[in-house]
Amino acid sequence: MQPRGQITRVETAPVPSPSTVPVPVPLKILVTDDIDPEGVALLRAVPTFEVDEQPTLPASLLLERIGAYDAMVGRSASKVTAELLRRASRLKVVGRAGVGVDNIAMDVATELGIAVINAPAGNTVAVAELFFGGVLSLLRHLTRADSSMHEGRWERADLLGTELKGKTLGIVGLGRIGGEVAHRAHAFGMDVHAYDPYVGDERFAALRVRRAASLDALLDAAQLLTVHVPLTEETTGMIGATALARLRPGAVVVNMARGGIVDDDALRAAIDRGHVAGAVLDVYLQEPLTGDHPFRRYANVVLLPHIGASSAEAQRNVAVDACAAVRDALLDGDLSRSLNGALTGEDAATLGPALLLTQRAATVARALLAARGATAIDALTLKTGDDLTASAGALLAAAAAGMLEGVVEHERLNLINARSLATARGVVLAHGEGGFAPHSRAVEVRLTAGGQSMRVGGVAALDFTPRLTRIGDFHVDVAPKGTLLVLSNHDVPGVIGRVGTTLAEAGVNIAEYHQARLAAGGEALAVISIDGAPPPHVVESLTALRDVRSATVVRFGDDA
Ligand code: NAD
Repeated sequence: MQPRGQITRVETAPVPSPSTVPVPVPLKILVTDDIDPEGVALLRAVPTFEVDEQPTLPASLLLERIGAYDAMVGRSASKVTAELLRRASRLKVVGRAGVGVDNIAMDVATELGIAVINAPAGNTVAVAELFFGGVLSLLRHLTRADSSMHEGRWERADLLGTELKGKTLGIVGLGRIGGEVAHRAHAFGMDVHAYDPYVGDERFAALRVRRAASLDALLDAAQLLTVHVPLTEETTGMIGATALARLRPGAVVVNMARGGIVDDDALRAAIDRGHVAGAVLDVYLQEPLTGDHPFRRYANVVLLPHIGASSAEAQRNVAVDACAAVRDALLDGDLSRSLNGALTGEDAATLGPALLLTQRAATVARALLAARGATAIDALTLKTGDDLTASAGALLAAAAAGMLEGVVEHERLNLINARSLATARGVVLAHGEGGFAPHSRAVEVRLTAGGQSMRVGGVAALDFTPRLTRIGDFHVDVAPKGTLLVLSNHDVPGVIGRVGTTLAEAGVNIAEYHQARLAAGGEALAVISIDGAPPPHVVESLTALRDVRSATVVRFGDDA
């Protein structure tokens, strides 16, 4: 069945909250996994620190000894498991010299009040430079030329290449790496276009990048397409068969972001057809890439073993960033770089639900604006009831985090950096003056984007779980947990029944169903809380129903 209404999906996970770190002396720090000496030197320079470098401590010994340490710094090799953290009775900070924190049991660290700090920015230049290395290698056949020379030959006939000058570069995601790539592309005389609906016009102007109004517009223009976005529900498979078919014949595709953003099978098919001339890949769905992977047989695909961040400078940068952040956390309680920094004790019990509600209200507001095509947020305004006014700063951070969920990589987003990340994107954050009447523990988040606005609010009372009570002009009453389906429909008899039947036939269980309207026979809104994620065809069936205008799916990462 073809959908008639519009479908929007957003997926989130919980964002951790701030805490402070007590400062006992002397402080013992364990450094594992060959951290660059420049980083370690920062720790050794502090007289009250005792630094223990154990690059290859077996897991059993690590378990035995971790109880003695106040902090540990490592890369991805050391597994910071739940068991290890529970044994680490003195541990206050875990530093990760790099971005990914898959090796750290983050939930347990948060539960125990152990800050987890990573170093997300240090490898930006390394990836941007590798981009040009990979692309030039492909376009000028460098690897083939080099291996034929090493094999004793002098063959020039097959090595006619193409230049970057005058070519149109299409960048998906104009964040840190996308921006550095754009900057360098100008030096090659390229015409630089980008698609990033979450970045304001100022950044495009500052980088002298032409803004593509849509991904399709970018694909239509690009001769060299590169993705520099996080892997999210929205970006998974975003460069699939349809997208590749839109590219100009002879285009080249680069994925140095995350495996799965470009659909590998579709890419191979497009290369086989001769529509795409070649590709440069540094990341794969499954890493390491299997020995017999079909890509290994393609001479016009440059394959790199995920070495985007593998430069001496990047390793030094991330080691210095992580060690400096661990030092500042231990000495000054500065957790501005912490990914989790949880609220502890009473604060967590009282403010936690309001933070979660505010974050989720912002996520719903953003999803609903996105459904109307408004994605570049200009302003976020928060209103709070009297009892929450004193916590406006933390709640504003929660709202900013909710707004950025699914746009910024989850492991780069926390309640401490959310406000600055939002401001850096040109979003004006404000806390509305005066108490907010509906309830002393009420919150309302209003987002504006390109002249459109959306407000979503709720109540986080102390004696019951948080509820969303307002979406736009509609009064609702639903818990912001699991998966929310927000339908806009005409207020006519039978819609609720048809929606219920469609969900029931697809085996989707409804936890809550709230139907709201402004006036009889006018516009209506349904907020449906369902168990699990609705399969895409179910959402399409809903939007194909008579009188249903649009469906927005917001999937929260866990239960509220
Ligand atoms: P970033 O957060 O600074 O930038 C990402 C940009 O993508 C943001 O501007 C965001 O607005 C944009 N974006 C998000 N969703 C989008 C969507 N649906 N459509 C268009 N734009 C969207 O991140 P970064 O530091 O530039 O990293 C980019 C990617 O590179 C990430 O996936 C990261 O994991 C990856 N990375 C790879 C390596 C490597 O070794 N190959 C090293 C570092 C980073």
